Amino acid sequence: MGGKAALEAAVKAVNAYSSLYGDYPFRELRVAETGGWFGGMEYPQIVFISSRLYDRSDLILEYVVAHEVGHQWWYSAVGNDENDEPWLDEGLTEFSTVMYFEWNYGRDYAEKVFDRMVREDYYRFLDRRGDLPVARPVTFFGDDTQAYYTIVYSKGAFILWYLRHVVGDKLFFDGMREFYRRYRFKVATIEGFRETLEEVFGMSLNWFFEDWVYSSGIPSYSIRGGSLAQLGEITVVQFQIYRAGRQRALIPFVLEASEKVVYSGVANVSSSITVVEVAVNGSFERIVLKLDPQDIVPGRSNPTVVITKGGAKVEYTAVAERDRKLRSPLAVAAASSVLLVLMLRYRRVK
Ligand SMILES: [Zn+2]
Repeated sequence: MGGKAALEAAVKAVNAYSSLYGDYPFRELRVAETGGWFGGMEYPQIVFISSRLYDRSDLILEYVVAHEVGHQWWYSAVGNDENDEPWLDEGLTEFSTVMYFEWNYGRDYAEKVFDRMVREDYYRFLDRRGDLPVARPVTFFGDDTQAYYTIVYSKGAFILWYLRHVVGDKLFFDGMREFYRRYRFKVATIEGFRETLEEVFGMSLNWFFEDWVYSSGIPSYSIRGGSLAQLGEITVVQFQIYRAGRQRALIPFVLEASEKVVYSGVANVSSSITVVEVAVNGSFERIVLKLDPQDIVPGRSNPTVVITKGGAKVEYTAVAERDRKLRSPLAVAAASSVLLVLMLRYRRVK
């Protein structure tokens, strides 16, 4: 049963990555069920999948197959030094694994997979252990496999997810395709990846590579001032983003009026205080500003403020809201089932 599912996933993966990055470069691909403690292991034209995954009914078999097949692009066709720069094959492959779900099942499903496999894993690690840079050799992590997997794979995929969303799909995948074309059957480096993307994007990626790939740390943001000014049919919205932490970042934001998005943009936050001013068509008395509303910038800093002519005030934060939605129904369900059990017991005793 698992064998057929593994084969189907491999076919879907080859189709997805061929379309996203460029054709599968070999004549054959074998998916082999093997023993072993690991989930899967990649070799050129063959991937090993642990037999322990074949009976699993959740998405883990499909996830591991999609990951290992992804290595046919990143590691096998585009070679790299897997010891010194593991992010270049593992980070790109983990990102591709989420793209497999998006390409085959659509955006909503991929968001859920990203949340569960990438974002939550990284945030759990951040809460417990703090941050580390992705561009470090395998030896830097030593026996700490949890740090290795979370930082190189999950954070590694997260920052690519972030880059993709701030530059847009067209540029991002043009860059990935060019990287694949340029380095197929050669040995690539992180610097080669950077040069290729900078050429294709037509912009310096110093902020991304220096502050997100080679360095660690998570910035947090707040919005401390804001104003609206009416100029005929245009509303000029101005606000200041305060940044704690040293990372330069491009941060998406939306402006909403009456719960409709009236403007979406990306703020270039390259210093500790950034002033943003945008002109929005229409006349508005009250604008809701949401910074990074979909949490694509790693770090869970997603302030939301209401800007009126009287200034800006924090109404709630998007992530706190999301956490409430995620946690409270479960907590209520758990609490009420405990209560129910207690009541049943109480009745029986009586
Ligand atoms: Zn891998």
